[in-house]
Amino acid sequence: MPDDPLQTPVQYLHGCGPVRARLLAKLKIQTVEDLLWFVPREILDLTEVYTPDNIQEGKVQTVRGTVVDIDGRTLSGGRSLTAVLLDCDGQYARGTWFNQRWPLERFRHGESVLFSGKPKHRSGRWEFSHPQVQWLDEDDTHSHGGMLPRYPLTEGLKMHELRRIMRDAVESYGPLIPDYLPDDFRRQHELPQLPDALRQIHLPVDMPQYKSGSRRLIFDDLLEFQLGLAIRRRAWKRQDTAPVLPTTAKIDARIRRLFPFELTEGQNRAIREICADLSTGRAMHRLLQADVGAGKTVIAIYAMLVAIAAGFQAAMMAPTEVLALQHWETLERALTHSRVKRLLLTGNLTAAQRKQALAGICSGDVDFIVGTQAVIQDDVEFNRLGVAVIDEQHKFGVAQRARFSGSENSPHVLVMTATPIPRSLCLTQFGDLDITTVSELPPGRQRVITSRVSGRGARRKAWDFVRAQIRSERQAYIVCPRIDENAAEMEKELPAAAEAVHRQLTDDELGEFKVGLVHGQMDRDRKADEMRLFHEGVTQALVATTVVEVGVDVPNATIMVIFQAERFGLLQLHQLRGRISRGKFQGYCFLFSETDSPVALQRLSALESTSDGFKISEVDFKLRGPGDVLGTRQHGDLPLKIADLDRDHDILLEARTAAFTLVESGEFDHARFAPLKTRVLERFGQLMDLPQSG
Ligand code: ADP
Ligand code: MG
Repeated sequence: MPDDPLQTPVQYLHGCGPVRARLLAKLKIQTVEDLLWFVPREILDLTEVYTPDNIQEGKVQTVRGTVVDIDGRTLSGGRSLTAVLLDCDGQYARGTWFNQRWPLERFRHGESVLFSGKPKHRSGRWEFSHPQVQWLDEDDTHSHGGMLPRYPLTEGLKMHELRRIMRDAVESYGPLIPDYLPDDFRRQHELPQLPDALRQIHLPVDMPQYKSGSRRLIFDDLLEFQLGLAIRRRAWKRQDTAPVLPTTAKIDARIRRLFPFELTEGQNRAIREICADLSTGRAMHRLLQADVGAGKTVIAIYAMLVAIAAGFQAAMMAPTEVLALQHWETLERALTHSRVKRLLLTGNLTAAQRKQALAGICSGDVDFIVGTQAVIQDDVEFNRLGVAVIDEQHKFGVAQRARFSGSENSPHVLVMTATPIPRSLCLTQFGDLDITTVSELPPGRQRVITSRVSGRGARRKAWDFVRAQIRSERQAYIVCPRIDENAAEMEKELPAAAEAVHRQLTDDELGEFKVGLVHGQMDRDRKADEMRLFHEGVTQALVATTVVEVGVDVPNATIMVIFQAERFGLLQLHQLRGRISRGKFQGYCFLFSETDSPVALQRLSALESTSDGFKISEVDFKLRGPGDVLGTRQHGDLPLKIADLDRDHDILLEARTAAFTLVESGEFDHARFAPLKTRVLERFGQLMDLPQSG
């Protein structure tokens, strides 16, 4: 036996043994300690179970009973009805399913089950239509009273077995778990002690207890993550010396001349904040987040040109080649008459070209490079990199960003998000950065009028409108979710494949016009040709997959029709329709969708009612999934164990303030925080590239 009883292999727990230990190992549980940290997915609250004589119509309730009858029958029109009758201590309740046969196979006579749902009183008895079902094991309630934890399982392991093993572990070993939070800190945040919290999670007596235990574990999860961010930030502030890049009035004027417009107030504010960072000699670590179309690229170019003016190099990195190309084109437009030596580094270069390019960057001949994040971070050695701009898209960047810091003469790093992100996600994913937010759009942008279109009649009217617009010399994008030809999978009325849509429209709805087609599988030249034809107005409508999301700027295009709109992400739709708010004409976006999913409808209606990207991102975040379950909803690759950024928003803010206060005040370096610091370094030291001494 190991010295530390918590390291005891689970096999020695009462009721476990080697066979179940092997099953637990599949769940990454080896020791008693692992087991105690294996949190239930949810708690079934049987204290809230009703009997048929005290339930009411119309609200969600749960009844418990024994299966006494299972019945399947065919109704008129080929439909079927399956019914399962429960005996609830002498009264009866019925579960019913239309056109579903699985209950016939799944239920057994004599089983003890729960039905949850909104009951209806029908021919003298309570009926649950398509109820949620829970199967109970006989001994569950004997040992656990009314509160049953439910754990993720693996094949061969039964819920009641795991509960029994867990109960033994919690009772015999739970009290031995050391609490790594100092008592006063814990009390200040009204958290239970760790052994108590674990008991409340696994063996709660009531819901408030379970919530209290969960809150402690969620708080710890977020606290540790925020401590990692705070430590990293402090290390940057202490160590990173960066080039001093001053902005003089002359430099400022020279850069502004490159743009054919006045900068917006938001852009000017962002530039002031960035220039202040660049002039200090401490490396900038700043996030620029802005609404779609607010003009981030201009801000980024400004920062990079300040570096070049001071004799340093600048790099701009995009997550994909297409985006890199887009940045490159913007840059080329701005720098047409400039002598700045610049280079586009993509996977398309030949080995020889590539070697030459890398040599130029290394020797310092090249001032300015644009490429994908992967290419630049892996291969490129800079001579004197002053500013690195990272266009993040939606990727988690905590680990990648580390690559540019922690050395003497780190470059200044500006991270840009492609779309607005909700505050709680921002404080987590980018919680180590200073943040600049730009929400103003350039003047003259009009709000795109957006409407959901469903049903044949509405579609016909929408096409009438589209034709009228094109006849008055406007242009239209028709966006489809994907390009595959697999017709079998597609709904007949709304063929989703771009090619099929193109054929259909040229035959029918848009038969009188020239209609172009562009999708991701075309080769680059053909794509460019199609784009050019549309840009020049030769084609009046362009059928496209989401490649139009990036790169195209056709001010005369005012119409966007999006097929199967429910299949796109909300922010993606917001970004797409940004394409038709560029010129001086009113834009119209039609979201074709036949969905009847309530969540999808809510999402689409958010787009109809607002054009504020920050609001849309909050809606998106809230609607992504049920937030009442521990640890099932993750955002990107955030290394959180059980916290949910939406559900746990308030805990996040408290944990973040606590973490940054501890680190910045130096209190975190006191010995009493050593156990917590060890945990943070174990968990995030490598991922976040934290200094081991804190
Ligand atoms: P995003 O923030 O979405 O990346 P971009 O940088 O691509 O936005 O800019 C969107 C469009 O707005 C571009 O066509 C750009 O030239 C234009 N733009 C940027 N700033 C201004 C401005 N101050 N006035 C007018 N147009 C601008
Ligand atoms: Mg952009």
